[in-house]
Amino acid sequence: TSVHIGQLLTDAIERFSVQFEQKRMKVEMDLPTWMPFIQADRDGITQVIDNVLSNAVKYSYPDTTLKVKVQTVQETIQIEMEDQGVGIPKRDLTRIFERFYRVDKARSREMGGTGLGLSIAREIISAHQGEIKLESEVQQGTKVTITLPID
Ligand code: ATP
Ligand code: MG
Repeated sequence: TSVHIGQLLTDAIERFSVQFEQKRMKVEMDLPTWMPFIQADRDGITQVIDNVLSNAVKYSYPDTTLKVKVQTVQETIQIEMEDQGVGIPKRDLTRIFERFYRVDKARSREMGGTGLGLSIAREIISAHQGEIKLESEVQQGTKVTITLPID
C-alpha cells in the first residue's frame, strides 16, 4: 500500500490528543511541504508510531513539548520524535528492544504495558528494510529516529 508518513503521524497525534492534554503536553510538528508516498504496511507503521507516542506520553514530564520532525534524507524518510522526559540510562539503552525489557520494573508496572512495544516496532521496521534507534539522556528526554526507504 502507498502510505503518506505525514498523514499517518498527524492522524496518530490526533488520536493521542486527550492523553497529551492530560499531561499538558504540546506537540510541535515539523513536516516538509512535500514528501513522497512510500510502499509500506499501513497498520504496521501505525502500530510503531502509536507505541512511540504512547511511550512519549508515559515517560514525559508534564508541561513539556514533544517534537515530531520528518525529513527526506537521501533515499529515505526520516522520522524523529523527541520527548522531554525521564529518559533511559545508558546501560539499559542497549537492551530496550528486547522482548519484555523495561527500565525500573516497579515504575514500569505502575505505567502499565508489557515491554513488547519497542521489540515489535523493531521487527516491523526491519521488515521494511528500515531502522529504528533511540538516543536518550536521563532526566532530559528521549529521541526516537525511524528511517524508512523511499522505494
Ligand atoms: P508496551 O509498549 O508493551 O505497552 P512498554 O511501553 O513498557 O510496554 P516498550 O515500548 O517496549 O514497552 O518500552 C520498553 C521500555 O523502554 C519501557 O518500559 C521504558 O522503561 C523504556 N522507554 C521506552 N520509551 C521511553 C521514553 N520515551 N522515555 C523513557 N523511557 C522509555
Ligand atoms: Mg511502549
